[in-house]
Amino acid sequence: MNQNKNNGQPFENSSVGSSGKAASVVIIGAGPAGIEAASQLAQNGVRVTLLEKDKELGGNVKNWVKLFPDFTDASDIRKGLFSKLESKGIDVKTGVSVNKLYAEGGKWIARNGSDAKYSADAVLLATGFEPFDAGRKEELGYGIYDNIITSVEFEKMTKDGKILTADGKVPERIAFLNCVGSRDEKVGNNYCSRVCCINAVKQAVEYKELVPDGDVYVFYMDLRMSGQCYEELYRKSQQDFDVNFIRGRISEAAGTIDSRVQIKSEDTLTGLPLKITVDMLVLMVGMEPSPTTKKLSSQNNIEGEYGFAKAFGSFLNDNKTDKAGLFLAGTCKRPLTIPETIADARAAAGEIVEYVRGK
Ligand code: SF4
Repeated sequence: MNQNKNNGQPFENSSVGSSGKAASVVIIGAGPAGIEAASQLAQNGVRVTLLEKDKELGGNVKNWVKLFPDFTDASDIRKGLFSKLESKGIDVKTGVSVNKLYAEGGKWIARNGSDAKYSADAVLLATGFEPFDAGRKEELGYGIYDNIITSVEFEKMTKDGKILTADGKVPERIAFLNCVGSRDEKVGNNYCSRVCCINAVKQAVEYKELVPDGDVYVFYMDLRMSGQCYEELYRKSQQDFDVNFIRGRISEAAGTIDSRVQIKSEDTLTGLPLKITVDMLVLMVGMEPSPTTKKLSSQNNIEGEYGFAKAFGSFLNDNKTDKAGLFLAGTCKRPLTIPETIADARAAAGEIVEYVRGK
């Protein structure tokens, strides 16, 4: 189906279209992309049904306490996003897991099981990502040994301002490992997740703020500090917080008899193998497409590389697909930061408004 055609079917309810009635859009996923797009569309007179599979809104942002690179309170961002849903014309439904999405008679239909059916003139996939399952990297010992945790779990600890080992002690030495589940041929993910380098710096600084006398090591392949103020935080982490950066990938991590973690690596700058024992190892898990992203993309033949959803064109048509009325926003396409996701959602809303106006 061509994006600029609608199978010859007129829109029935478009306020911005030729019929003079409100057009309707179903958005699947109420993370930052879905919420921002819903708000933009409602402001343009489009009726929005926003479907979220969880009971809570916010997508992955609900797992974060402070955001890089300036330690913005994630709850402020959540509040700011949620306040956007107060606009008229947005019907939010939580606990709705869409498992079927298809076009029929000029409408897009999203179904939750066999009963609930949501129909609209266009649909926006904002189904996001899920963190890589660290258990797939067996050699890193996640889920086997105590005190090997993910960056998502570390973030939760910072909420109460207490970073503690499994037996309740303050870790005196801690290591972060970058690129877990990203840039890794073995797990089939050759892409970079783009956010974990700076997140490791942020979390290393947070550790030092809570444990000023502790030792912290970040193991990396390359440090990708490409966002605004990322490089500055990286420098600050070394100058003001004594964070140690070691260029090398950890080949193996295992528990010791006293519940510490022994790491084997190679310092690729010196070429020497390295063994170090720490009290806690934090795995910086990358982004993978969410199961809903994979399922709905595959159903509509827009599945791209690694199971992310595929846009019609990466330069001028990054929010469209090759299906008329099916649009994409945010990390269902690829790893993005939160500001990038929000900007992308605004772009998607603009494309949708243009699409329904053309009807
Ligand atoms: S952002 Fe950094 S840690 Fe994350 S995948 Fe890319 S290089 Fe690895």
